[in-house]
Amino acid sequence: MSDCLFCKIIAGEIPSSKVYEDDVCLAFHDIDPQAPTHFLVIPKTHIGSVAEVTEDNAAAVAHMLTVIARQCKKLGLDSYRVVSNIGAQAGQSVPHLHFHVLAGRDMTWPPG
Ligand code: 5GP
Ligand code: ZN
Repeated sequence: MSDCLFCKIIAGEIPSSKVYEDDVCLAFHDIDPQAPTHFLVIPKTHIGSVAEVTEDNAAAVAHMLTVIARQCKKLGLDSYRVVSNIGAQAGQSVPHLHFHVLAGRDMTWPPG
């Protein structure tokens, strides 16, 4: 999607601090971290949010979760939070599916 911020990051048109990359997804540090560890994992193919996950793209989404599990193991994290906001009321500000991975501080439940 030409006017999508995260598609521009994938294309290299906007720089990012890369954590991990493969053919399916990219992980990079959030520009406004909300925890000592805060990175985003996004699919390389544009998917608007979890609301657009279908049987056709579910393999990419499952792969992103394996990347999160592996990356967190690599970082020595045994407790972390994975969040995906869907829609404006839930706080989604970038309409390209992303999983936030947050760790390194105490967290409360329910989230605000
Ligand atoms: P959302 O609000 O949609 O759940 O999450 C979007 C996230 O993208 C926010 O945490 C925000 O800080 C992050 N973000 C927005 N623009 C950029 C950017 O240009 N680079 C990086 N690395 N993160 C960004
Ligand atoms: Zn996009």
